[in-house]
Amino acid sequence: MVKTIFLDRDGVINEYLEQDYVKDFEEFRIIRGFGEFWEKHKDHYQFIVITNQAGINKGIVDLSFFVQLSKFLIQKFSIKAIYFCPHRPEENCPCRKPKNLLLRKAIQRFSVNLENSYFIGDSYTDLECSESLGIKFILVLTGKTKLEEAQSWQKKPFKIVKNLSELNLIN
Ligand SMILES: [Mg+2]
Repeated sequence: MVKTIFLDRDGVINEYLEQDYVKDFEEFRIIRGFGEFWEKHKDHYQFIVITNQAGINKGIVDLSFFVQLSKFLIQKFSIKAIYFCPHRPEENCPCRKPKNLLLRKAIQRFSVNLENSYFIGDSYTDLECSESLGIKFILVLTGKTKLEEAQSWQKKPFKIVKNLSELNLIN
């Protein structure tokens, strides 16, 4: 069983674009602090990305660009896999977070040790997805959610950090 850090993508690895999607490499900017976090944890955890990418089925994000970018990320940060949902919300698919189909698939395929794993995200849907399987959720404030907003959430994150550079999950 393997200790795992699940990551949302936008707002966690790369800068969150307000009301927009990452459509090309120019719009993909790694968040300051992510590299440091990765460097510190890479020998202790496996990394798996779980991301909603409705821009694909909206016809805004080119699937081949998404795949190309994913390959780059997998190589650069030795990520085990990137699970993505391409559907629009109204398609009512079983894979779009907060639903946990993709997370369950990843857990099964990569023998995840749930007890010693974490899910890092920037939104309430990430929290709900993570919590539905009992994974500790860490909210990072580099993305969609402001601290004041998170404080009024019904469900609480396991931890909240301003930037991933301040997070240490090695014991
Ligand atoms: Mg996000």
